[in-house]
Amino acid sequence: MGRKTYISYMNDGTTVRIHGDLGPHCAECLDVAANLCDYPIGGDKTCDRMICHQHSSLVGDNMHYCSAHFAIYKKDNPEMFSNVISPFKRDQENEK
Ligand SMILES: [Zn+2]
Ligand SMILES: [Zn+2]
Repeated sequence: MGRKTYISYMNDGTTVRIHGDLGPHCAECLDVAANLCDYPIGGDKTCDRMICHQHSSLVGDNMHYCSAHFAIYKKDNPEMFSNVISPFKRDQENEK
């Protein structure tokens, strides 16, 4: 009945096939959808694209964007991404 095939990517680059019903597929691959894209698309609505861990980018507290929206977000907020890296670097330097 609800038997589907999922292809999940492991951290070491190998893939694992899973048979069963684990819910909807990711919009971009055959992995299990783990998150919904939270990108605002106007009004109270969000993109709501189903995305797996691999294809979701964490942008805040339990906020995930699909790869297309994350690319837009990154382009619109380049300063946010340089800020993400620099305090980290500073911390590491202080530890020396
Ligand atoms: Zn995916
Ligand atoms: Zn999206």
